[in-house]
Amino acid sequence: MKFLPLLALSAIAATPIIAQESRQLEAHEHGVGQLDIAFDAQNIAMELHAPGADIVGFEYAAESAEDRAAVDAAVAMLARPTDLFVLPAAAGCSVVQAAASLESEEEHADEAGHTEFHAEYLLTCADASSVSDITFAYFEAFPNALEVEVQVISDAGATSFEIERDAPTLNLRGMF
Ligand SMILES: [Zn+2]
Repeated sequence: MKFLPLLALSAIAATPIIAQESRQLEAHEHGVGQLDIAFDAQNIAMELHAPGADIVGFEYAAESAEDRAAVDAAVAMLARPTDLFVLPAAAGCSVVQAAASLESEEEHADEAGHTEFHAEYLLTCADASSVSDITFAYFEAFPNALEVEVQVISDAGATSFEIERDAPTLNLRGMF
């Protein structure tokens, strides 16, 4: 029952997210990831797309043991959203679901051989309105990442932000 409102929100958001994804695959810029965050009551859904170059430093198909290990380590890091996108303790958020993967070359690489990491998260919070900011420890985890284009969807509508390595905090004060 508690996921129904979120699923409804996902349906509403589906069209722009799909449009954004196809655009992204044509114009994928190294150093720039994309994070969509949807607030719905006490739930927070997040979806991250990041170039392979940002996350592991390469975009060719991992074949060596070292490269495969790098991909596995990155997927494991990306599956811990609250370590990468740090929420205020006062909000009391916990991870309900987290899934991360390297999108396969057959499906997502373009002619230049790009790859992307994709992650989806669902969090539930004791008080989501206490999420006044999100600190992007993501930039510490992934030294090649320079910027994340963020879209926040809430009852207040959709708002876009650009969070950069030298100012890695998303300020959400006044959004609730
Ligand atoms: Zn690329």
